[in-house]
Amino acid sequence: MPKNETAPRNPVLQPVRGTHDILAPDFRRHRAVVETARCVAARYGYAEMSMPVFEFTEVFQRTLGETSDIVSKEMYTFADRSGDSLTLRPEATAGVARAFLSNGLTQDLPLKVFCQGPMFRYERPQKGRLRQFHQIDVELLGVAEPLGDVEIIALGADVLDALGLKDKVTLELNTLGDRESRLAYRSTLVDYLGDHATRLSSDSRARLERNPLRILDSKDEGDRAIIADAPAISDSLNDSSRRIFEDLCAGLDAAGVAYRLNPRLVRGLDYYCHAAFEFTTEELGAQGTVLAGGRYDGLIEQMGGQPTPGTGWAAGVERLAMLIAAPPEEPRPIAVVPVGEDQEEQALAIALRLRRAGFTVDLGYSGKVGKRMKRANKLNACRAVVLGSEEAARRAAMVRDMDTGEQVEVPLDCLETHLAHLR
Ligand code: ATP
Ligand code: MG
Repeated sequence: MPKNETAPRNPVLQPVRGTHDILAPDFRRHRAVVETARCVAARYGYAEMSMPVFEFTEVFQRTLGETSDIVSKEMYTFADRSGDSLTLRPEATAGVARAFLSNGLTQDLPLKVFCQGPMFRYERPQKGRLRQFHQIDVELLGVAEPLGDVEIIALGADVLDALGLKDKVTLELNTLGDRESRLAYRSTLVDYLGDHATRLSSDSRARLERNPLRILDSKDEGDRAIIADAPAISDSLNDSSRRIFEDLCAGLDAAGVAYRLNPRLVRGLDYYCHAAFEFTTEELGAQGTVLAGGRYDGLIEQMGGQPTPGTGWAAGVERLAMLIAAPPEEPRPIAVVPVGEDQEEQALAIALRLRRAGFTVDLGYSGKVGKRMKRANKLNACRAVVLGSEEAARRAAMVRDMDTGEQVEVPLDCLETHLAHLR
């Protein structure tokens, strides 16, 4: 356990390491990312579903692979009170596949799913790397053709484009081929890396037998130098895998989606085959991957279902939220300000009436009129509807333009009409 995790702390006052509260200004960015993605995905026919944040541990353990980083060291796994082993979901795909099987959705193929929400991984926290983070995720089940991959990649590109990130991201593309091609590549790669084993990092050396493809994903400087000269998978592809990849590239060309081939790109989980891709940016330092995905044709079968092809991607909401321009401000509120306690009831009634009529309204809760006006200022209110005793007697209010200071008396019955342009 890293040293700073044992430091004395007040567990009631501190969030757990690697988790954070998303306060209102950040949440606007967060929401802009999710809502934009949801909206673009809907245009592609992807309907939103929501799966539980925890599943039986086997759902992840059996599918992601024992040697993946996630299963070997990142899962939040615990026994619940009845002794079942549960895991907080580290990613969405396995849960979508489980839901597909539990709900017998085989009649609904092809199934297009959009989902989003928190994911949990025990990682070393840093900028853009958290223990509770959020993903948006799309999955397409039941389409074996590369056209399915073209569609979900185009969807990813369109989401990033709609977020204003087109010029900040690059699509990197590779294929992992079918099982036969991967096995052939695996042995070529092990031969090559074996010759350099003594210079590999200890992590990579450990992977040499269990999961050599993962070494290509190593972030260790020394490893990277060795990997740079490693054989590429393209030389190990059999004919059918090669053709599938050519179709994918041709489809992306036809869709006008630009990409860069990256023969070292692999996905960290065992269930991937064929298409593998990542959208990366230079603007987030080491945590530069904003959206990543690929094809996982073996997954559903591995979980006990009929063979069902699948392809999809997930994107990190926090990383995207850091990249986008600030979303437009919320509408400025109208402040309803009772001058004194006697007008409070009437003020509340008017505030409610205006809210129900579609205005954004805040109420000056307490104190002298000056304090209530100060609060209206702090909230950046565009108008204050001031209720004094004299105006009240005439069933009217003073409406003050908070920018110019101009005020006019408006009959209470006419407030909605007078303020209509602010709705
Ligand atoms: P990395 O290589 O950065 O660890 P990964 O391959 O583990 O990424 P995926 O499982 O592909 O990531 O997750 C998809 C996306 O979710 C990532 O591209 C990233 O944007 C985001 N993501 C993954 N892990 C985290 C995390 N711990 N904190 C914040 N975002 C994350
Ligand atoms: Mg990771």
